[in-house]
Amino acid sequence: MNSKIWLSSPHMGGGEQKFINQAFDANWIAPLGPNVNGFEKDLENYLGEGKKVAALSSGTSAIHIALVLAGVERDDEVLCQSFTFSASANPITYQGANPIFIDSEEDTWNMCPNHLEKAVQDRISRGKKPKAIIVVHLYGMPANMDVICKIAKKYDIVLIEDAAEALGSTYKNQQCGTFGDYGILSFNGNKIITTSGGGALICKTEEQKSKAVFLATQARDNAPHYQHSEIGYNYRMSNVLAGIGRGQMEVLNKHIALRQQMNQFYKELFKNTDGVKVFSETNSVYYSNHWLSCVLIDENIAGFSREELRLHLLEFNIESRPLWKPMHLQPVFEKCSFYGDGASEKIFKKGLCLPSGSNLNDDERLRITNAVTVFIRK
Ligand SMILES: *Cc1c(COP(=O)(O)O)cnc(C)c1O
Repeated sequence: MNSKIWLSSPHMGGGEQKFINQAFDANWIAPLGPNVNGFEKDLENYLGEGKKVAALSSGTSAIHIALVLAGVERDDEVLCQSFTFSASANPITYQGANPIFIDSEEDTWNMCPNHLEKAVQDRISRGKKPKAIIVVHLYGMPANMDVICKIAKKYDIVLIEDAAEALGSTYKNQQCGTFGDYGILSFNGNKIITTSGGGALICKTEEQKSKAVFLATQARDNAPHYQHSEIGYNYRMSNVLAGIGRGQMEVLNKHIALRQQMNQFYKELFKNTDGVKVFSETNSVYYSNHWLSCVLIDENIAGFSREELRLHLLEFNIESRPLWKPMHLQPVFEKCSFYGDGASEKIFKKGLCLPSGSNLNDDERLRITNAVTVFIRK
């Protein structure tokens, strides 16, 4: 049997070991140190816009800290894109607050500005103004940021951008994660760059970053003994893992180009297949890192379903996966309010993620081509 072709697997660039060795040589095996500072600087330089970055233990913890900084408390309401991975919404519940889910628009698959504004107005008319908005750049595709930022500003609501899947994606040439009051990144093993596990909070000011680091290191007051006036968390990134991040930053742009080539590869592969559409930018204001390449399969036209294609690829030891199941359809969130018209549910039912790693080689692409071609001919 051929080896498994994964959806997205870690791809080391070669420089990572050097930074890890520096951490060992200096005995900086702690959740702070030169690699943490260096990795944060690398990210700040890459993102631009004068942003400050705090390296944390995960993207999920970064969202949690963003919500704490936004002042989200028990029984507050937070508007969150429904079409996403559960980690976007879970931290809302850590604060005892209630997620309210917003449907997607067809072009970007991300938060629909119309449903967002309807939800804001409806919640206000019920006597409760939402405390924050969490917008996601899913699969690396930037959301419709002009309109979403305008709505957040108009109603004076904190905007948090979940750019976990979108490092290097841009909207009107500005990096995703730098539009909101806060942005978050993930360096989990399957993301475009990885520290095995890790994340980052993107802030506007040094004060916000200091507060985030303070909260992420158990909220210790300035005293010789351990003194605490606030509840803290253990969310800081390890100096060893930040070393992996510094090495990964050296190859980020190369990895983005390779993922974009995978998207082109699928466009070519499916170009004569009616009913199969490769998800791509609909307008040049959007620039996706194409973290994962996805297709929408219209069963009535294509003559096969996304599940039939998935099972066929599996026989060839090729991994593919349905899209994220929207949060308003998840059992755990069934009691939450939802504003939408079924767009994300439709996308979910038709969509499939295909192997997209920057480390896929010509042999593996040939295996994918052959497997798909055999299937389409059937
Ligand atoms: C991966 C991911 C997260 C969470 O990041 P972790 O580092 O795994 O905690 C959040 N949101 C989205 C959209 C993600 O894909």
